[in-house]
Amino acid sequence: MIQRLEELKQNALRELDAIKDPQLLEQWRVRYLGRKSDLTNILRGLAELPIEERKAAGAAGNQVKSLLESVFAEKTESMKSVQQEQVLRTGEADSAKADITLPGRALPQGHLHPVSATIDEICDIFASLGFNIVESNDVELDYYNFGALNIPPEHPSRDDMSTFWIDYENERGERSMLLRTHTTSVSARVLQTQKPPIRVVEPGRVYRYEAVNATHLNMFHQIDGLAVDKGITMADLKGVFFEFSRRFYGPERRVRFRPDFFPFVEPGVEVAIECAICHGGGCRLCGSSGWIEIAGAGMTHPKVLERAGIDPNEYTSFAFGVGVDRIPMLRYGIDDMRLFFGNDLRFLKQF
Ligand SMILES: [Zn+2]
Repeated sequence: MIQRLEELKQNALRELDAIKDPQLLEQWRVRYLGRKSDLTNILRGLAELPIEERKAAGAAGNQVKSLLESVFAEKTESMKSVQQEQVLRTGEADSAKADITLPGRALPQGHLHPVSATIDEICDIFASLGFNIVESNDVELDYYNFGALNIPPEHPSRDDMSTFWIDYENERGERSMLLRTHTTSVSARVLQTQKPPIRVVEPGRVYRYEAVNATHLNMFHQIDGLAVDKGITMADLKGVFFEFSRRFYGPERRVRFRPDFFPFVEPGVEVAIECAICHGGGCRLCGSSGWIEIAGAGMTHPKVLERAGIDPNEYTSFAFGVGVDRIPMLRYGIDDMRLFFGNDLRFLKQF
């Protein structure tokens, strides 16, 4: 009996030593430590032995069992770490199976967010028309967001732009800082720091304290534009928008100008393009009007120029503001703006 145990132990140790595969290791465990293994049978058979043999054989049997259990545990651990090392080194669970004739694995590559890509595309078009790109702070002074743009404190249009105010008071006890409600604030800064002729576009994030739904967010994107020079007229504004539309939407799309009101322009217009789905006939996408509003624009109000120290009798100016986020929504048929900023990769990977 003792000899059988000794043989079994030697065989088990020799075999275990040669094992390099986790599957074979499991087979080994079943063969030597399983419920139907020789060792289990031997230990079960002890009861039939004469009492004097039983004691010695029982002790030897248990010794072999605990030895095999501990070497098995050791081997399992060491195989695990070897495997981990291999994965770290080669990226393969089993380098022996790597097929070196396969093409290399492509590294995951990111891409621009659809809104960023749209901003770049629009800015590229305006840059090619001679506009410079200017960016400025998201946190803005009341003066540049409102005052400089002909929107004094009591002006009703402030109500249209629910504002996130910064919890800060200036020396006069006024709340004077906010998250800009439009990128027109950048135009106010440009007018104060640059001398005409000026041609700029100003992309950026803007913020409104509003209920969030499928078409309205607290944060969205605009591109404002401004041109100041001698003799600039509404015809220049139209020319620029026709050219922009031709390049961005294609030569077939019609552009419509309609009177509108913004405090910082006079006269003001709403710029719309023909709906791509119904071509003016009216559909769900365009709210059955046949047109999709893309910008507010107009001739810069003389008071705005005056406030910046530019003589409105010498210089004239046009300005516009384009809402960015609706462009990729319309282009890709996305009906919920929140999807763009939910950071769900499953959505963003589609673009
Ligand atoms: Zn339509």
